[in-house]
Amino acid sequence: MILEILTYPDPRLRKKGVVVETVTPELAKLAQDMLETMYDSEGIGLAAPQVGHSVRLLVIDTRPRDEQGNVDTSGMTELEQQIPQPLIVFNPKIVKSSGRTTYEEGCLSVPTFFEDVDRFDYIEVEAMNEKGEKILLKTDGLLAICIQHEMDHLDGKLFIDRLSPVKSGRIKKRIEKQGYPTPEEAREERARRKTDRTKQEEPAG
Ligand SMILES: [Zn+2]
Repeated sequence: MILEILTYPDPRLRKKGVVVETVTPELAKLAQDMLETMYDSEGIGLAAPQVGHSVRLLVIDTRPRDEQGNVDTSGMTELEQQIPQPLIVFNPKIVKSSGRTTYEEGCLSVPTFFEDVDRFDYIEVEAMNEKGEKILLKTDGLLAICIQHEMDHLDGKLFIDRLSPVKSGRIKKRIEKQGYPTPEEAREERARRKTDRTKQEEPAG
């Protein structure tokens, strides 16, 4: 079932997710619905608060795909390739981290906005899988960035909160006053901004 994705400034995005003790059938169904919703929106990650459930659950699939939609893992790092995806993760907690990296992030809850965000380059994450088993994820690359982005949602935080106060304020004010740009406006805006950079449009989480 496709779920409605909440967008900023919906106050439900600011609620802290509660720890999951047991993977109930309801939570297992929620995780499957979240995956379906994420794929439908062409996102690479989705956290439960984004669909109005304040629990510490996130789903992720950062595997690159070709134009036919087939998975092509050749561009992934060695560590990323070792972790089976899609991932369903409960109660994630970073227990080790190192290095810094910057990536142009987007978010299904802040559609059409993309900005560089600073994150850890490498992380080790303790969590619980959909079977209720304890797992340890060691990764870098886009998967590490995506996990950190989604974990922020569990604490009511968005990527636009991590920008400079000026940039963050400008984006929030724009959304609060004028709503989100139409896809055409967003394309034009991005084309303007991209004149001095060569990055392609990045997937959103
Ligand atoms: Zn997001």
